Amino acid sequence: MARFELVAKLNNTWAIYKDRDGNLIPLPHNPWYCPKCGVPLVIHRFAAYYHKAEDFGHLDINAKCPLCGHFDTFGISVPRNLIHKLQMSKYHGRTLRKEIPEIMEFMGFGEEVDIVKERLKSYGYW
Ligand SMILES: [Zn+2]
Repeated sequence: MARFELVAKLNNTWAIYKDRDGNLIPLPHNPWYCPKCGVPLVIHRFAAYYHKAEDFGHLDINAKCPLCGHFDTFGISVPRNLIHKLQMSKYHGRTLRKEIPEIMEFMGFGEEVDIVKERLKSYGYW
């Protein structure tokens, strides 16, 4: 059984998923690959914003290569009804670390998961 369940597709790369406890998290439904290593980028941090005066919401998503550390930022529009739920998520607004191996396994990574686990154990960061 999948650890994360699809909630809504946002564009051709990113979608909103929820975990078993209902916490929302953006994850790629189509991978975005590191230009150097060729492996899919993994979410590193995200934050959801609502701009009341202009009545729109967006997500800023940082994604990182688990091998070389290449770092990208994505700015994604998000439906208004999901913004508050994203902001209340336990994943919101912080650097994701202990959750990363499980996210990578869900994304279909193989040996790279062990590399990240070892880095987390040694340095507390991936
Ligand atoms: Zn890379």
